[in-house]
Amino acid sequence: MLSDHPVLEFLNTIPMVDGKLQDLLQNDADVVSALTRFGWPTTFEGTGLLTVARNVREELRRLVEGRKAGSPLELARLNAFLARAWSYLELNQDRTRSLAVRRVWEHRTPEQVLAPVAEAAAELLAAGDFELVRRCEGESCVLWFYDRTKSHHRRWCSMASCGNRHKVAAFRKRSRKA
Ligand SMILES: [Zn+2]
Repeated sequence: MLSDHPVLEFLNTIPMVDGKLQDLLQNDADVVSALTRFGWPTTFEGTGLLTVARNVREELRRLVEGRKAGSPLELARLNAFLARAWSYLELNQDRTRSLAVRRVWEHRTPEQVLAPVAEAAAELLAAGDFELVRRCEGESCVLWFYDRTKSHHRRWCSMASCGNRHKVAAFRKRSRKA
């Protein structure tokens, strides 16, 4: 995961491509596969997931940006959303008879499908280190990441794209001066 946090990865499903925002979520199946990839195994039989996912994504983006800016946050919408989650604990035993507890989320409605994302976002907003939650410094890049490097000097969504573009631009600047 480039962003090093599943909630930021979810925000990053609408990157800037050739100067235009491109939404990688285009239908319900895209949402199911994205959430599964980000660590929330998801199944969904109903309809209307895409609209709810996009709404939640923009709500979470607003909160992450507000938290980053140190602004007072309007939490009512997220809290209303959290109240619609449906989850329970399940106890499992493996072959060595050791026990493990895991949380299971119901996936009957779009809101229930997005519940683990909203819960993880609430945890991130409350307990995340927002010195380390940053937006890529790439010009016109909109991607977020959680800087988990030892030095905490991460600046780019990825070295291969924005980092490299910056290096090339800096090199051109230097050679023009020379
Ligand atoms: Zn970037």
